[in-house]
Amino acid sequence: MSEPEEQVEPLVTEIPPKAADLSAWYTAVTLKAELVSYSPVRGCVVLRPYGFGIWENLQKALDQRFKATGHENAYFPLLIPEHLLIKEAQHVEGFAPEVAWVTEGGQEKLTERLAIRPTSEVIIGVMYAKWIQSHRDLPVLINQWANVLRWEKATRPFLRTMEFLWQEGHTAHATAEEAREETLRMLEIYREVAEDVVAVPVYAGRKSAVERFPGAVETFSIEALMPDGKALQSGTSHDLGQNFSKAYDITFADIDQSVKHVYTTSWGMSWRMLGGMIMVHGDDRGLRLPPKLAPIEAVIVPIIKGSETQAVAEAHEVARTLSGQFRVRVDDRDYTPGWKFSEWEMRGVPIRIEIGPRDIQSQSVTLVRRDKAKGAPGAKETIQRSVLAQKLREELNDIQRNLYAEAKSFLESHTYVVGDRDKFFELCSSRAGMVDIPFCNRADCEANVKQKTSATTRVLRELREAAAVCVACGEPAVVQAYFAQTY
Ligand SMILES: [Zn+2]
Repeated sequence: MSEPEEQVEPLVTEIPPKAADLSAWYTAVTLKAELVSYSPVRGCVVLRPYGFGIWENLQKALDQRFKATGHENAYFPLLIPEHLLIKEAQHVEGFAPEVAWVTEGGQEKLTERLAIRPTSEVIIGVMYAKWIQSHRDLPVLINQWANVLRWEKATRPFLRTMEFLWQEGHTAHATAEEAREETLRMLEIYREVAEDVVAVPVYAGRKSAVERFPGAVETFSIEALMPDGKALQSGTSHDLGQNFSKAYDITFADIDQSVKHVYTTSWGMSWRMLGGMIMVHGDDRGLRLPPKLAPIEAVIVPIIKGSETQAVAEAHEVARTLSGQFRVRVDDRDYTPGWKFSEWEMRGVPIRIEIGPRDIQSQSVTLVRRDKAKGAPGAKETIQRSVLAQKLREELNDIQRNLYAEAKSFLESHTYVVGDRDKFFELCSSRAGMVDIPFCNRADCEANVKQKTSATTRVLRELREAAAVCVACGEPAVVQAYFAQTY
């Protein structure tokens, strides 16, 4: 995908074929489905109601899992005083090129610059230093839903914008073991939400040293594979050890009264996950939304002939029987049924329910699935209204499973286990997908692969066979690594 410099919103009349130009397809779909709109601010997009509806469903899925694992939500300030930001050396070095600064307020020049948060470890760490005194105060398990700002040059809706929405969890623990457990628990929640809710299969694992979050002892991530063979980092969980607690002096009196630094973690998932969802599931007709994220699970379209209005009344009646159990909408706008069909297909609504004169007579409806190709078995079915709710639930579950299965089969068929050096470099250069090798985990070997192929390590896992050698350089291998080019 090339990065468009142009901020002018293209006038989208048709969606270009996905396989021909994923980038053009992606931009057209996000705009035409009314997920986003470009804004007058360079690098920032507007999340429109339909896009926000999808985000809200992702939020709910995450938030309910955070709370079930003992976390609470809170909110911290947007601005960070410079003298605080620079305390953790690696952290500030990592983020410095992306930080936007407030230097004036009203008519006054500020005596100290204020950073607009690129992430909140600092401001939260400062507060934790005040709140935590004793081992009795631990663990602290807090999540924040917020926007952050990172000064980016290119813009791609969801995938890369200056300002974006996310959640960031920040926790403090008495021991290194507890912090590591927390880091892995949240990684597992991200994997589960990506796969079970967003229907996007991922590889989860640990990051190499160069790919690590600035200031972390260890970073873990989930990585999805896009149709163009590039990986998309879709959620990260960081074990920060005592790096931040030492920089911000977050200490507690332990049971034996000795004063110790706490161990902290942070973890985040952003609306970037939605960019992955769009690319993975969409097709030439537009979006295909997994039911669990869809703001509208089923759209009801009355088929009106002439001045016949009974279908409209019946459509509303069907909607009434389904509301409460399903997110449904009746489209009784003054457009032709055919126009409405393609509009809702493009916007990815999982199921369309048609009600025409013949359906009314037979007390049935016609159910059309968005995930299946037109004319495919099971794409269209006539259902008795008496069993509609039950049938709708089954079909939605099946669509959720089907989208995941399709994506999973793509990921598996584009994962290459490689033992040959030339083949490895060729697959990485040609952006074939996830390339799985035994790896030495040395920074200079990784840098060499990146320089020659643009591919980087995505996640590291346990070595599959002991005594293997690194496919990239021939040195002894210590981990199994997925390499891929990335967004
Ligand atoms: Zn190597």
